[in-house]
Amino acid sequence: MTSVSDVDAEILLAQPRGFCAGVDRAIEIVERALALFGAPIYVRHEIVHNAYVVSDLRGKGAIFIEDLDEVPAGSTLVFSAHGVPKAIRKDAEARGLKVFDATCPLVTKVHVEVAKMRAEGYEIIMIGHRGHPEVEGTMGQSGEGMYLVEDDNDIATLSVKDPERLAYVTQTTLSVDDAAVVIEALKARFPAIREPKKQDICYATQNRQDAVKFMAPQCDVVIVVGSPNSSNSNRLRELAEKLGVPAYMVDAADQLDPAWFVGVKRVGLTAGASAPEALAQSVMQRIREFGVKGVRKLDGIVENIAFPLPRGLAPSAT
Ligand code: SF4
Repeated sequence: MTSVSDVDAEILLAQPRGFCAGVDRAIEIVERALALFGAPIYVRHEIVHNAYVVSDLRGKGAIFIEDLDEVPAGSTLVFSAHGVPKAIRKDAEARGLKVFDATCPLVTKVHVEVAKMRAEGYEIIMIGHRGHPEVEGTMGQSGEGMYLVEDDNDIATLSVKDPERLAYVTQTTLSVDDAAVVIEALKARFPAIREPKKQDICYATQNRQDAVKFMAPQCDVVIVVGSPNSSNSNRLRELAEKLGVPAYMVDAADQLDPAWFVGVKRVGLTAGASAPEALAQSVMQRIREFGVKGVRKLDGIVENIAFPLPRGLAPSAT
């Protein structure tokens, strides 16, 4: 096996990394629904964007679907952490399904903002990634008056009804720095645009990006544990790369390439908000087998946020 040459080589562990409160809650909702009502429990879309988590829950009796036609009448259905358009909620209700909503409360906060501002007559620009389920869910909070922009190039061609009654919201897992550029461009084109009271990019996204900003400059290579469809994990990898450090995203330890670690002295390791700590630990173990023996936990924010479970699934319900 190829190995690093430096005996002092070490792994730097980002703080914080891995699960956020919204992911924790979403997984617990599926697990408690399985415990209380038995398999199968239907879940619309991957509960969180992590292949390991999805496969684990599938093994316990969760069935992941995209279309409500796949859910038999009378079944229990969980909405994923990314949230759903209003039409899906209505459809589930019309079908008489027993629904538990695992939408992250911080995504719901954006949905509430959208509903409130639409009711006040504002049109809304959403900054986000086309095709991402969170963007579809937030755009789907209103049948009209919503525009999606992905980057500042989209802004030039945007045509709105009234620039004086315009607001913006964002996806929760954007790059903080990239979003700031788009927001500046929006404000330049629409000076009266109304801003969210508090930024929509969530605490977990912000904290994990800040941790990479602190860690990456100390490293020769950065490894992000996360699945390819995880928005916040991709942003962490891109951020490290923008800071001039080679960065790779892996779903599991067997995706590591020993060549990435040849001659390196410091390996930065982090994990996206949907990646379990067990995966980060197995990736760390594998990197140690490549010869990077030392491990150092970096200082950083210690998060102690937890979101309550929906009624009907809280522990007192057992
Ligand atoms: Fe909620 Fe943020 Fe976690 Fe998404 S990344 S589930 S918005 S806390």
